[in-house]
Amino acid sequence: MFTSPLDLGPLTLRNRLVMGSMHVGLEDRHRDLDAFAAYLARRAAGGAALLVTGGYSPDLAGRLTPVGSTMARRRTARGHRRVTAAVHDEGAHIVLQLLHAGRYGYHPLSRAPSASRSPITPFRARALSARGVERTIGHYVRAARLAQRAGYDGVEVMGSEGYLLNQFLAERVNRRTDAWGGSARARMRMPVEVVRRIRAATGPGFLIQYRISLLDLVEGGQDWAEILELTGRLAEAGVDVFNTGIGWHEARVPTIVTSVPRAAFADLSGRLRREAGVTVCASNRINDPDVAEAILARGDADLISMARPLLADPDLMAKTVAGRTGQINTCIACNQACLDHVFANKRASCLVNPLAGRELALAATPPRAAAPARVAVLGAGVAGLAFAEAAAGRGHAVEVFEAAEAIGGQFRLAARIPGKEEYAQTLRYFDRRLAALGVPVHLGRRAGVAELAAAGFDRVVVATGVRPRVPEIEGVHHPMVMRYDELLSGAREVGRRVAVLGAGGIGVDVAQFLTRRPDRDVAVWRRAWGVGDPAAARAGLVERAPHAELPDTIDREVHLLQRKSTRIGAGLGKTTGWVHRAELRAAGVVQHTGVAYRRIDDAGVHITVDGADRVLAVDSVVLCTGQVSELAALGGVDAAAAAEAAGIPVDVIGGADVAAELDAKRAIRQAVDLALSLG
Ligand code: NAP
Ligand code: SF4
Repeated sequence: MFTSPLDLGPLTLRNRLVMGSMHVGLEDRHRDLDAFAAYLARRAAGGAALLVTGGYSPDLAGRLTPVGSTMARRRTARGHRRVTAAVHDEGAHIVLQLLHAGRYGYHPLSRAPSASRSPITPFRARALSARGVERTIGHYVRAARLAQRAGYDGVEVMGSEGYLLNQFLAERVNRRTDAWGGSARARMRMPVEVVRRIRAATGPGFLIQYRISLLDLVEGGQDWAEILELTGRLAEAGVDVFNTGIGWHEARVPTIVTSVPRAAFADLSGRLRREAGVTVCASNRINDPDVAEAILARGDADLISMARPLLADPDLMAKTVAGRTGQINTCIACNQACLDHVFANKRASCLVNPLAGRELALAATPPRAAAPARVAVLGAGVAGLAFAEAAAGRGHAVEVFEAAEAIGGQFRLAARIPGKEEYAQTLRYFDRRLAALGVPVHLGRRAGVAELAAAGFDRVVVATGVRPRVPEIEGVHHPMVMRYDELLSGAREVGRRVAVLGAGGIGVDVAQFLTRRPDRDVAVWRRAWGVGDPAAARAGLVERAPHAELPDTIDREVHLLQRKSTRIGAGLGKTTGWVHRAELRAAGVVQHTGVAYRRIDDAGVHITVDGADRVLAVDSVVLCTGQVSELAALGGVDAAAAAEAAGIPVDVIGGADVAAELDAKRAIRQAVDLALSLG
């Protein structure tokens, strides 16, 4: 069971939850170590059994970035004693991940098995000489010894995702003809030697976890027979546990974004476990204890790795143990505040839990308000819900008033998008939390500030969200035109030929809504992305099935338009935008940029592009042209005027405050910070 202990040899874990490695931006600077310790200790306090740190390079050449973290000096190890002690104090174990980036190093010192440049980095890595290989192995050993000295219970050797050790295994990057290449067996020598010498240097009581790539998803990756052989040799060399990795970073198949079905790769972990007879940890898109339990029950893994889900809710295991899984704040795999931040060299946090990564800074905030107040919240979109949850959690008497018949606002619409089904989890979380906290939620109830002041509330928080913008285009009120909320809520239907005006996040989502149905299962998802059986196709790469041949697609002609001449989807997240763009291409969505709208009439949408007039003959037009703030609750005045008139403080948060680029990350953080600032 997910909650049962497991004896790994060197140590016994209190349950099956491993917090997977994830760089959060607190690893790199000595001055952030206390914040890093507080961040990890919070996850340990929430019940995770084994934590894996973000990646630490064994040397300068292996750093991910020019300022990337290394474990190469005694001074660094001494500093990390604070980290390991903080985690041990909370009853968890912790291992340091050793990650040599190889040709993924974002700096000119990078080294790889053979001279090469990866498709995702601007620098050409130089080839390691034979002495360089030996030196690098020595650096791994030094890093493991330092980790041991720092109090870590072991190391995780990063051998997947296309980093150095994975590069050694693949003909694609390893074109050496010396003892470290030339045959599959020789290519395995580097990772095997790294493990063998770490084991020799650290002794039997030190956990060695190895992250092995089960599916490279790049040309010239490994096949299943090679993966099995490697596993056997690594186990012999001293690996205790195999964590699993899927896909090189340069692969053109998504592996962790929200549209990847849950547990999409757990069957491969199971295969490794059964065929190699080793202890295996499953990973990738496992965000829920029930999914974890099912994987364990099927015998597909011994342990479950979750990284982002513990950013979203550090108490995931504690809530599971207490039987309160409905109150877990589920990671929706959006990447918006975690990976997209890390790729922009910003500190990671979490869209649904803006406290993540700020544990030390917020340690001084009292968990309970000194002077609890009666607070009315107008609007039950995510901003209003997040405020209500955080404020009620601190002891304020909160009531929520929502004009619609259901909570959720824009998130409720987002959850209807195929591939965004997870967004419904956030609403389930708020629903359960507010019920547990005894917060009344009045649905179908429009309330005004003055009325609430008269009813005895001490404060009003306006979180009434946004209204879709209706642009001033001639014919915009033609019967074939509808707003995106009307389409997504089911209030309106479209014909076979549709023009989507506006190609921001919502326009792209709507194009997907129009071209396939939700709840794609793993088998169909694999066909759509060309993911095959690694025993039959090297690296698991097969032809992608055409959109029309998939059982969940919708036969519809969709045009997606924007006035800007930039590439469509350019403003989407770094780690997710490419997936959306690939999906639009696969679905045959016709993209128009640099468009001037002339009018809409029975003939369709009249546009001008590059000076040429055209008519898109369509049956329906969907407006995805941004939003404007919904401040009707204030009766057309601003917050200060409303506050003065009502005689109580009024705060405006979320989309009602700033509608431009309506942003759930900003809205939730603003809401939670307001709740923390009260009393
Ligand atoms: P948006 O990103 O601001 O896009 C609005 C689109 O409408 C733009 O393409 C804009 O492009 C066009 N537009 C704006 N004013 C117009 C006007 N007066 N007439 C005609 N076209 C106009 O807004 P959104 O798509 O509604 O998304 C809102 C926010 O939701 C996003 O910023 C994002 O934070 C979030 N979101 C993100 C995702 C994601 O990342 N996958 C998905 C959904 C929502 P032109 O001016 O070039 O025509
Ligand atoms: Fe998950 Fe999104 Fe939070 Fe990242 S930001 S941990 S993907 S919910």
